[in-house]
Amino acid sequence: MRSFSSSSQPDLLPQVLKFKLPSGECKLVLQRGDITKWKIDGESDAIVNAANELMMGGGGVDGAIHRAAGGELLRACRDLPSHGGVRCGVGMAVETPGFQLPVRRIIHTVGPVYDKEVKDDCASYLASAYRNSIKLAREKGVKYIAFPAISCGIYGYPLDDAAKISLNTIKENSEGFSEIHFVLFEPSAWQTWVDLAKLNFEQD
Ligand code: ADP
Repeated sequence: MRSFSSSSQPDLLPQVLKFKLPSGECKLVLQRGDITKWKIDGESDAIVNAANELMMGGGGVDGAIHRAAGGELLRACRDLPSHGGVRCGVGMAVETPGFQLPVRRIIHTVGPVYDKEVKDDCASYLASAYRNSIKLAREKGVKYIAFPAISCGIYGYPLDDAAKISLNTIKENSEGFSEIHFVLFEPSAWQTWVDLAKLNFEQD
């Protein structure tokens, strides 16, 4: 039987990297994996859902979060104020409990559908989605928050641009948090965020 040295096994490469953010206390943590499994303490933690305006569930990370949180999440979403069916506008954020997820809260935000003809508008909506999620989480006393790569799946945002916008926005809004995580599902997203973070921040 063939044996492999540990260095030849990609699975053993580090899947969690920690960086210092320039503002001080808060750390940036990048990790590979499934955000529905993420938790810190079940009290001061929250994950962010890349939802859609109707908030009635969907595919991608939204579908995974609804499946893992259970049916109570859909009922809670249905009870949120709706304006013509819209429960969370693009770039906005709303909160629900985590229900069966291991975290206390879910912050739902809606990223833009990428359109290169109006890419500046898309960039400002994506920055708003991050900023408003962080702001709402801070108001709720969240200290540890985990983001997926908002808009980078079905909504088609180019990874390089999305990573830049997300890391810039986080860098400028990290006050009050202990750790801000990105949980990256796809190898390409993981690699993009890692490369950019290594260029901009000191590893911890
Ligand atoms: P959007 O509609 O905002 O593009 P998607 O859910 O389609 O949202 O994709 C956003 C990102 O979330 C993509 O990079 C996708 O690979 C990733 N993703 C999908 N499932 C999970 C999961 N369980 N945990 C973390 N990220 C996920």
